Amino acid sequence: MNIAEELRALVGPSGVLEAADVATRSAGVWRADNLKAAALVRPCSTAEVAKVLQWCHTHKVAVVTQGGLTGLVHGADAQSHELILSLERMRNIEVIDPLQRTATVQAGVTLQTLQEAVEQHGLAFPLDLGARGTATLGGNAATNAGGNRVIRYGMTRDMVLGLEVVLADGSVVSSLNTLLKNNTGYDLKQLFIGSEGTLGVITRLVLRLREKPTTRNMALVGLDSFANVAHFLKHMDRSLGGTLSAFEVMWQSFYRLVTSPPAKGKPPIAQDYPFYALVESQGADSALDSQRFNAALESAFEAGILADAAISQSEADCHAFWSLRDDVEQVMHLGAPIVFDISLPIAEMETFAAGLKSALPGLLGKHQLFIFGHLGDGNLHVAVVVEPQAYLTARPVVEAQVYGALAAFRGSVSAEHGIGLEKKPYLSVSRSDSELALMRTLKQALDPLNLLNPGKII
Ligand code: ZN
Repeated sequence: MNIAEELRALVGPSGVLEAADVATRSAGVWRADNLKAAALVRPCSTAEVAKVLQWCHTHKVAVVTQGGLTGLVHGADAQSHELILSLERMRNIEVIDPLQRTATVQAGVTLQTLQEAVEQHGLAFPLDLGARGTATLGGNAATNAGGNRVIRYGMTRDMVLGLEVVLADGSVVSSLNTLLKNNTGYDLKQLFIGSEGTLGVITRLVLRLREKPTTRNMALVGLDSFANVAHFLKHMDRSLGGTLSAFEVMWQSFYRLVTSPPAKGKPPIAQDYPFYALVESQGADSALDSQRFNAALESAFEAGILADAAISQSEADCHAFWSLRDDVEQVMHLGAPIVFDISLPIAEMETFAAGLKSALPGLLGKHQLFIFGHLGDGNLHVAVVVEPQAYLTARPVVEAQVYGALAAFRGSVSAEHGIGLEKKPYLSVSRSDSELALMRTLKQALDPLNLLNPGKII
C-alpha cells in the first residue's frame, strides 16, 4: 500500500507530502531535528479531514495532528510509520461577529492573524503568548494554551465557545455554539480542549471576543521579600477595579540575566532586589486609568510593600518591560537548560524555591538556577542550566527534586505547556489513580484502536 498515493485520491495531489519531503521540514520552532513520518496530509476542509481519518481507521494507520509546532513537551512528535495531519491549509477566518463578539475560524489560522483581524472591529482575542505568529488556534485549543493574560481572561479553555471535531472513525461532531450561556448537558468541547490530539481532531472553532482595551499602564517594581510580592499582587488586584491584566514575577538571577549584556535589555531599576514584578493594567479611559494605576502604586509604597518602581510613560516603555520578561532565550545561550512549567499555591512558592536552591548544589556540579513566570496565575517557569555534556544525567535528578517537592502539596507538573511525551512519566504527581483511570476510559471510548496521537499524555 502506498499511503501517499491513496491519500492523494482523497485530498488532491498538492495535499500530500511523501516521507522524503516530510524529512526536509523542521520538527518545530525550538527544535534542531526534522520531522519524520510515513507521509504528511494537508486537508482543506472538515470533510477532507473526515475522509482522511476514515481511511486511517480502515487501514489502522496512526495519525499525529500538528498545528504550528511551537509546543514544548513533544506533544506533536511523530514516528516514521505514522501519518502527520497538518491543518496548515485550513487558514480561513470565516466570521467575525462584532455584536455577538465571536469569531468562527478554521483550525490552521495563527493566533496573531486572528488578533489583528478582530482589532479592526475594536475587539480583542485576549489569548497571548510569545509564539503568537506561528502557533495556530487549533493547536492553542488542543493544548489549552495559557500565556500572559490568564489572570484576567483565563486559559484558552475559557475563550472557546464551540468546536467542530473529527473523531477517530472519521465521524464529524459539529458543535459550533456561539452562545455565551448554553447549559445543555455535557459540555463536549471541553473533552477536546487540552486533549493534545488524542481524542479527536479540531477543525473549526468559535472563539469568544472581548471589547479591545484602549489604554495600558505598566510598572516594573523591585521588592525586598516574597511576602511583599504576595501582598503586592493582592493590593494591585484590589486597587485596580478589575483592570489588572498581567502580574509577572522574576527572581533576581533572571532579572540580572535579561538586563545585562549580552542581553539587549537595560535595567529600568537597580539589580539588587531579590524579586521583581511586572504589573500591567488595561482599561478604556486614559486619564482615569493612569490616575488609578499611579495611586495604587503610591499606596503600595506607603504601605512599605514596594522598594522601587519604574513606571511606563509610553507604549514603547511597555514593550521594553515585556521584552525583558519575554527574553527567555538568554537562558538557552548559557548551556543546556532543564525547564519546568509548574503550578503551586502562592503560599508554597518561597519554600519551594528556597528548597530547590539549597538542594541543587549537592545534586549537580556547575549549574545556574532561574525562576520567573506568571505568578498571578500560580505558575512558575523554572530553568536549571547545566553543561551540555551533563544534561542527560542531570535531567532525571533535577526532575526528581522538582516533582518530588511538588508532590507534597499536589502541585501541577504542567501549568500551561501540557503533557505530551515529556511530562507523561510524572502525570501521577498531579493526577490521582481514579483520575487517570477515567482518562483511559475516555480514550478507549473515543479512540478504541489507539490511532490518534498514540502514546501521548497517558
Ligand atoms: Zn509561560
